[in-house]
Amino acid sequence: MVEPMAPKKKTSATTTRPTQATAKSTTRTTRSTRSDRTSRSDRAETLRWLKQLTAIPTAAGREDRVVAWIESWVAARRGLRLDRDRAGNLLIRPRRPGGASSRSGRVADILVTAHLDHPAFVALGEVREGRLGELGFELEGDGSPGSLPKTVADRSGRFLLCEFRGGVHRPYFDGAGVEFFAEGSTRGVPGTIVATGESMSPYRRMIVAFEGRAADRLAAGDIGRWRFDGPAAGRLPRVEDGLLFTHACDDLAAVAAALAMLDRTHRRRALRHVGVLLTRAEEVGFIGAIAAARSREIPKSTRLLCLENSRSFAESPIGGGPIVRVGDRLSVFSPDLTNAVSSAATAHAKAETEAGRTFPWQRKLMAGGACEATAFASYGRPSTCLCLPLGHYHNMSRIDEVVAGERPAKVAPEFISVEDYHGLVDLLEAVVERLDESDPGSGRALMERLHRERKGVLG
Ligand SMILES: [Zn+2]
Repeated sequence: MVEPMAPKKKTSATTTRPTQATAKSTTRTTRSTRSDRTSRSDRAETLRWLKQLTAIPTAAGREDRVVAWIESWVAARRGLRLDRDRAGNLLIRPRRPGGASSRSGRVADILVTAHLDHPAFVALGEVREGRLGELGFELEGDGSPGSLPKTVADRSGRFLLCEFRGGVHRPYFDGAGVEFFAEGSTRGVPGTIVATGESMSPYRRMIVAFEGRAADRLAAGDIGRWRFDGPAAGRLPRVEDGLLFTHACDDLAAVAAALAMLDRTHRRRALRHVGVLLTRAEEVGFIGAIAAARSREIPKSTRLLCLENSRSFAESPIGGGPIVRVGDRLSVFSPDLTNAVSSAATAHAKAETEAGRTFPWQRKLMAGGACEATAFASYGRPSTCLCLPLGHYHNMSRIDEVVAGERPAKVAPEFISVEDYHGLVDLLEAVVERLDESDPGSGRALMERLHRERKGVLG
């Protein structure tokens, strides 16, 4: 999601550490919601994809590590092909029997979308003493122009000027731990933010201090992410009481869900028109999605089901099931498509109940941020959103209290419910199966019947 909105007063208990109630109810639903169409081993495999993907470092414009994972995933499936558009977005579609997939006809006229980036740091280059003042940092040092802040001047090590691509409130940066990844390395080099700029144009800048030889390999373009400490840290990714704690649920958990759906659907003849579009640079303003919306490569009639991880509020709890999202901070989504998705979800839940199972799902606005469905809709494309309720949105713990100045800011692993994730995969499959069944005129038919039967009341 892009940019956190201005704080709402006292709205969320669910973005703090998970409560016992959340954990218990999540565990309890595990047995009763497992659908017979998804075996235990299928779930184990899709959970493995979820854990792997959400632990990969990624940033807007620097999504290559996630892309490499997806390339090998697609390469292992002969029935799928992967194409890139000019913006570098990935389009994954079923192959037609006997060869290439086609852009015409019904192929991929439903695209499930998710974005490949997460709010993160990108190194711009090395900083030497004397240049800091010119870069516009407010310095805490001895006050002489261009001096390093006192905390830095006393240290040896290496200093990198970095920028942060994504929406995180200012207090979370001060003195925070980070880890950067040299090209080709999966080992994070720990560093500390020692100065944070105020300007946001185009992105907030900061100085990160590193110690030790490992930092010698870091260079401009390398990506960094938050380094967690304290009780919230522990090993990542990890599943605890039915919750997955990891670096970046937003939006890599959605990438995993989209691929898991496609893994199930792509061999089915009736679902050859269902594909996946994975976009770049969403966290800095839907840039990849806008490029896709403007491009002619995707037919105007293609229906877009955009997946998100959206900040959970008390009324949209983690563990309450995947969410059919009807709008966001900026807009409401395409009404016919949103209603069709809702009726598909209702029909699926009814079928599950009749089969003796439960299928929890939610229908919500989720006004904590904006998503790609808004970007696509702005270009007249039919689009709506399905999302997972997310804890520690953009790695911020206790957002409202921090913004109100009531508590020091602390970054933390994002978390989602594992059951919500499996529920989203089930829901996606059910939605793409049933999307064409729904009749956009059914609302009007209901109104006509009510009017006919009860117009007598008007006298
Ligand atoms: Zn997102």
